[in-house]
Amino acid sequence: MIETVDIKLAPKDASDNALILQKSIAKSKYKKGKPKDWRVIRRSVDARGRQIWFQLRVELYYEEQIIPEPAILDNFVPVDDQPPVIIVGAGPAGYFAALELIEQGLKPIVLDRGKDVRARRRDLRAIQQFGEVNPHSNYCFGEGGAGTYSDGKLYTRSHKRGNIYKAMRLLVEHGAKSDILVDAHPHIGSNKLPGIVSNIRATIEQYGGEVHFDAMVTDLIRKDGKILGVIVNDEKEYRGEAVILATGHSARDIYYLLDRLNIKVEAKPFALGVRIEHPQALIDKIQYNQRQREEALPASSYRLACQVGDRGVFSFCMCPGGLVVPASTAPGELVVNGMSMSRRDSAFANSGTVVAVELSDLGAYQEHGVFAGLEFQKAVEQKMFANGDGTQNAPAQRLTDFVRDKMSKSLPETSYIPGIHPAPMHGLLPDFIAEKLKQGIRTFGKKMKGYFTEEANVIGTESRTSSPVRIPRNKATYMHDDAPGLFPCGEGAGYAGGIISAAMDGQNVARAVKAYTG
Ligand SMILES: Cc1cc2nc3c(=O)[nH]c(=O)nc-3n(C[C@H](O)[C@H](O)[C@H](O)COP(=O)(O)OP(=O)(O)OC[C@H]3O[C@@H](n4cnc5c(N)ncnc54)[C@H](O)[C@@H]3O)c2cc1C
Repeated sequence: MIETVDIKLAPKDASDNALILQKSIAKSKYKKGKPKDWRVIRRSVDARGRQIWFQLRVELYYEEQIIPEPAILDNFVPVDDQPPVIIVGAGPAGYFAALELIEQGLKPIVLDRGKDVRARRRDLRAIQQFGEVNPHSNYCFGEGGAGTYSDGKLYTRSHKRGNIYKAMRLLVEHGAKSDILVDAHPHIGSNKLPGIVSNIRATIEQYGGEVHFDAMVTDLIRKDGKILGVIVNDEKEYRGEAVILATGHSARDIYYLLDRLNIKVEAKPFALGVRIEHPQALIDKIQYNQRQREEALPASSYRLACQVGDRGVFSFCMCPGGLVVPASTAPGELVVNGMSMSRRDSAFANSGTVVAVELSDLGAYQEHGVFAGLEFQKAVEQKMFANGDGTQNAPAQRLTDFVRDKMSKSLPETSYIPGIHPAPMHGLLPDFIAEKLKQGIRTFGKKMKGYFTEEANVIGTESRTSSPVRIPRNKATYMHDDAPGLFPCGEGAGYAGGIISAAMDGQNVARAVKAYTG
């Protein structure tokens, strides 16, 4: 007999196991005394009322013990001698595709243009401290992909796209805390993710797969239209039964390569805007109604969205207790994003705040055909860079000044290490984006009292929330109709929008590859 009960506890009591059990038994309808075993299966914070509660769903086992689930990795067998499959990109899509291929009895060979997680750190330091962007190793490129030095938020709404629980369990089996299986809004943090990513590589290699870094795919090997492999760094060939292309939303050269090879790519709507950074204490005050957040509560977050005319304006990738980071992937451009450590204990809260961009907005850029959005995105990033001093020091404006088209004489403190300088963000952004953002921000200020403040910075540019290009694939086979053997995958292909959805897409594609190879 297993009974499920819902209880709520004050934040300070939420980790007190004796109290959790006592409250759960009191709530139980099965009045048989103490259960043999119990566990929390869901945990969330309810901050809607005056009193903040942790809501817990608890399973009580009256007649049996909890039987631990067997590890997914227990199903793995060596694949050294099995048919090879090439995976381009060691991001969440690529690495989870590799794990799934092993489970399916195929040998993954993962190729990434960047470096392993440890070596990658040096290049991140060079961006942060000297503004030097290595086009192959940065916050988007390198082992673990764009997800490695991120907030590690694992929340996804893509429930229909795959098995979220399996992706989460694989993360736990590679070192993530099991809390992520229980929390309503799980996250890992930038300090923990690199370890998990290198554990995944160890698994791939242990079972006979291969992972190669400094291996930029520069061409595809094709015979009679069929994809047989890839060329790396213009010289070395890797051949396989199929090629999974999981290069992420910033690998612009891959889109151009496919176009040159007459493999169809399509323009798609995307989003562009700014990162907005507030003091975390202010967001806590608004969300928790507490002058100082009590210790047991996590840094608070928000999610904002509104319609301005025919267009959505929304917050994206909110990082409570986080940092704004330089996410440019080439010299001469300025792109920002957000990350946080597992404790989410910085003094700042940031989120991307973006406007949906339709193809009809792109005016003169239409002459670039399917690359109209990509060229538009690039032009905005380059304009932001040109406003600065040639480093990754970013243009910024007080939130209130941005909305009032006024230059800021000074700026509030920021977490952004390369620094910020006052700039007319309202003029640097394309007019239609600036106008929609201004109206959206005013609406957010009404929804969330205190949000519209001169204490917040608007920082440019948040331009990589999604890709302006999609690589189409057949719904049934997951393969590109123009190139048998080529499997577009993950965010860069347009089939994911975050770590977990990319990981699930990797798993789905790997199973489709198995069906293809027979
Ligand atoms: C700073 C930051 C913070 C983020 N925070 C979060 C978050 O908290 N939660 C969340 O869900 N999402 C977050 N995201 C988004 C998330 O990281 C992506 O959605 C996810 O990583 C996409 O996975 P992917 O495997 O499809 O592509 P990517 O992670 O982009 O991986 C693509 C890989 O392909 C490699 N590559 C590219 N071109 C080539 C080539 N020609 N040859 C060989 N290799 C190549 C790249 O080096 C890279 O490693 C964040 C992104 C950034 C940049």
